[in-house]
Amino acid sequence: MKKRFTFKCWNCNRTYTLQREITDQQVLTVACPYCNSEGVVDLDPYRKEIKNVMKNITVMRDVSSDDSIDESTNAEEELDLPDILPTHKPE
Ligand SMILES: [Zn+2]
Repeated sequence: MKKRFTFKCWNCNRTYTLQREITDQQVLTVACPYCNSEGVVDLDPYRKEIKNVMKNITVMRDVSSDDSIDESTNAEEELDLPDILPTHKPE
């Protein structure tokens, strides 16, 4: 599955758009088209956690006043990415 992402270059601070394939890898490597700097994006902080445990807890309580729990979580959406992904200098 290829998706279009917007990255912000760590070196020249410009933003650019690239299509990247998302796999199980936790780090994307990109190259800035403006200054040719390689950048890495750590995807791990954006992965959604499964919250089945919390749902089980709320069933036990009377929370009729709190209907704001978001039940619309799309199971196919593994990543919760910001509009612009910051890149970092490679190690
Ligand atoms: Zn750049």
